[in-house]
This record gives sequence, C-alpha cells and structure tokens, in this order.
Amino acid sequence: MKNIYHTDIYKFDTPVSSYWEDTYSENLNLEKLTKDINSEVVVIGGGYTGLLCAINLIENHNLGVILVEAGKIGWGASSRNAGFNCLPPSKMSFTKMQSIYGKEETKKFFKNSVEGSNYTKDIIKEYNIDCDVTGDNNFVVAHHKSKFEQIKEQAEIYKSEFGIETKIYSKEEFNEIGHGGTEQYGAFSYKPGFAINPLKFVNGITNYALSKKLKIFEHTKVDKIEKENGSYILRTMEGSIRSKKIVVATNGFYQEGLIPQMDGRILPVISNIIVTRKLNKDELNSHNFKTFSPIANTKNLLYYYRKLPDNRILFGTRGDLIGSDQSNLEMSKKMEKFLKNIFPQWFNVTIDYNWRGLIALSQKLTPSIGKIDNEEIYYGFGYNGVGVSAAPWTGKQLSKLVFSSNSKDLDISKIYKGLPKKFIFPKLRLLYFKMAVLFYSIKDKLNI
Ligand SMILES: Cc1cc2nc3c(=O)[nH]c(=O)nc-3n(C[C@H](O)[C@H](O)[C@H](O)COP(=O)(O)OP(=O)(O)OC[C@H]3O[C@@H](n4cnc5c(N)ncnc54)[C@H](O)[C@@H]3O)c2cc1C
Repeated sequence: MKNIYHTDIYKFDTPVSSYWEDTYSENLNLEKLTKDINSEVVVIGGGYTGLLCAINLIENHNLGVILVEAGKIGWGASSRNAGFNCLPPSKMSFTKMQSIYGKEETKKFFKNSVEGSNYTKDIIKEYNIDCDVTGDNNFVVAHHKSKFEQIKEQAEIYKSEFGIETKIYSKEEFNEIGHGGTEQYGAFSYKPGFAINPLKFVNGITNYALSKKLKIFEHTKVDKIEKENGSYILRTMEGSIRSKKIVVATNGFYQEGLIPQMDGRILPVISNIIVTRKLNKDELNSHNFKTFSPIANTKNLLYYYRKLPDNRILFGTRGDLIGSDQSNLEMSKKMEKFLKNIFPQWFNVTIDYNWRGLIALSQKLTPSIGKIDNEEIYYGFGYNGVGVSAAPWTGKQLSKLVFSSNSKDLDISKIYKGLPKKFIFPKLRLLYFKMAVLFYSIKDKLNI
C-alpha cells in the first residue's frame, strides 16, 4: 500500500532544517547496517518511543536489543516538534471517553497521562539532559469570548475528576501574566507541564542509550520483514537482522506494507511550525507576551505557540494536506497570517524558520499500545500530537510487554491497549481527513 502523502515528506536521508538544528551542533554519526546480524529484539524507529523502549529493555530486562532508524537518529517527529510537555494524548473529549470506557478507566487514562509527563521530566534529570526546559505549566487560552465558560468547566473537571492542578485566569488576569492580542478571552493553566528543546532531548536520550551499549544503526530503513523458522528477518538496503521479537516505533512515519496487521489503521497528519526572528522587549510588550510556558488555544484546529528562550515566537497548527516541499512553504505563509491576526502589532516581524512533520491519529483517538495476535510484534503509536509526554512513557510500557510477551500484564488504562480499527477504504483516509478539516474550519469560523 502506498503512503498517503507526497514523497517529499518521507526523505529519510535528508535532514530537516528546523530552528532546533541551529541550536545544536553535535552530530552523532552512527553506523549504518551493512551486514547480516542477529538480535533478540529489534526496535524499528529511533524517536522517543523506540529509544525508551530499548533503554528499558537493556536496563530492566537485560535483553539484547538493536535499534534501527531510517534517517539520522530522532529524524522523525521527536527532533522537530514544538517541545510542549502537555496533556492528554487524545482527541476525544473526557465526556465521550467516560461514556465509552466508564469513569474509572478515564480516570486511569488521565493518571497515566500525568505519569507520562512526569516520566519525561524524570528522564531529563536522570539522564542529565540539558534541553532548555522553560515554563512550569501549560496554558489553554479561550480564543473567543464564547469559549471562556468551556475552559472554566474543563479546568474544574481536570481538578475534581483527575486531581490535576488548575488555575483559571480572566482575560485581564491572563493579560498580566500570559499575553494579550485579539484572540485572548481568558485562560486556564494546568500542571504538570513545561517546554523543551526536542532535538537536545532526543540526542540526550541517544547519548544515554549509547552509554548503556545500545547498538543503533542510522540510515537503516527496514524495507521488508520475512518469517523463517520461527524468526523474523528484517531486510534493509545493505544488511539484514534475524530476530525473535520486533518493536514497531515508527508512529506517523509508519510505512504502509511493513506489517500487514498494522496497515490502514494510522492516519498520519502533518503539523507545521513557523518561528519568528528574535523579538525585542518593546515588541513583546506590545502584546504583553510574558510567559515561557506552552500555550494551546481552543480552536478545533488549534493553534499552539510559545516564547522561546531567545525571545522568538514558535507558532504551530495542523499542517498542509499534501506533504510536498511547496505545500509546506504555502502553509507557512498562511500561518504567518494566522499569527499576525492574533498579534497584529507584529505585522512587520519576519519568519526565520518553517518546517513540518507527521503526527499519528487513528479512529481510536487515543494511543495504541500492544502486541499483534499470534506474533512477536509489538507496537506503540497514535499520540495525537502529544508525544513529548506520551511517547517515552509508552516506550517504557512496551519494554515490559516485550519482556513478558503478554499484553495482559500491563497495568495501564485499557484505553491505551490494542490496535485501532482499520479505516474503511484506507486509501480514502486523506479524503476523510480533508472533510473533517473543512467541517472543523467552518466550526472555527462560527466559533462553535
Ligand atoms: C511539527 C510537530 C510538532 C509537534 N509538537 C509536539 C509538542 O509540542 N508536544 C508533543 O507532545 N508532541 C508534539 N508532536 C508529536 C511528537 O513529536 C510525537 O508524538 C513523538 O515525537 C512521537 O515519537 P515516536 O518516537 O513515536 O515517533 P517519531 O519521533 O516520529 O519516530 C519514528 C521514527 O521511525 C523511523 N522509521 C519509520 N519507518 C521506518 C522503517 N521502516 N525503518 C526504520 N525506521 C523507520 C522514522 O524515520 C522516525 O525517525 C509534534 C509533532 C510534529 C510533527
């Protein structure tokens, strides 16, 4: 089956020039697989999920692990996201979640989400990673006056149902500590939460993994998996790995056709980011932009933004629908307009960086962690764009699953467990998504 976006977005061997790349110069230059080898476990994908799964397999379970990455390590979303450590990894409202899974499972889902956020914080400390942590909470901003009541209710439920620390701010109060602009009608904050430099984070994790003797092959894309005498043989361009167990940690960059049971279940969605030039004090003050904490607004097709440590503004949205380099450029122009509509005093501020990447959605609207029936193939994906907190934690959960070879052993909310449904006519996934985008953009225009 063919991937649903333009081939430009799958150029695994081309580094993606993001703002983060200009903040970090170390190139790990790891080996490429060029021969036939064996391993107990192979992890496919060198982002947060794969790396944390591999590290935990080595440290806690003493298993022989090899990790293969199609690009350079962290090439996927893990090196180029916005760095928000936020909650929850779901596109489903908690009311809907409660009606489908019940109150207890929903509570457990949020508890696990908070554990994920704290796990990210813990590994930054434990692995001694300098990744420019900023802010100490997340903000959700009402982009229209009709949304303030909604966020107040959300803040109350987070607190009363899930024990999450929240605080509500009126428009005037948020103007004092957060920011102003044309689409700020009050906000609420929640903890835990903060922001990181994602590239420094993923490279820090990689350095730690290398210190634990994890064998990593970069520029080693698994093209095909065959079965022979109870083992899997993973074929790459210049070598192969024979293994008993496989972990698929490819999230939005999953290549259709690799694992038949996983095909047609993931909806990769493009997320785009632009970063402005550095703003001076007067420019920041013109919109009272004070906070360094990550911010998301209440649009259905949400905007996410933050002030970076060097006073640039990072601004992200759902991205283009094609995936070519040209469509990325066009999207970044649109986004510049979105940004300047909400912060009009910045009309002459230029954009220094634009890039994009793939996140993974599915019909489940929540992440998927598990093992494929009757196979020794494990998966963790579908964080709905909230992988900074969810992906490392998922990697850790996956390691337990791989070690025990039994999905029933995982003590996590069942909302995470199992594969999502296959899309009806998977080739039409992008069309379904385009229709959803149209629907939600109309809702956003009408502020409903
Ligand atoms: C623009 C953007 C902004 C985002 N912002 C945020 C944010 O602020 N906060 C947040 O929580 N989340 C954010 N996300 C989402 C977050 O980055 C992801 O959820 C997270 O990084 C997923 O980690 P992962 O390890 O599962 O996948 P990835 O980091 O995407 O890694 C998957 C890897 O698999 C590799 N791969 C694929 N196929 C093969 C193969 N056949 N053989 C070998 N390797 C293969 C790919 O090269 C890739 O490196 C954002 C994502 C994007 C794209």
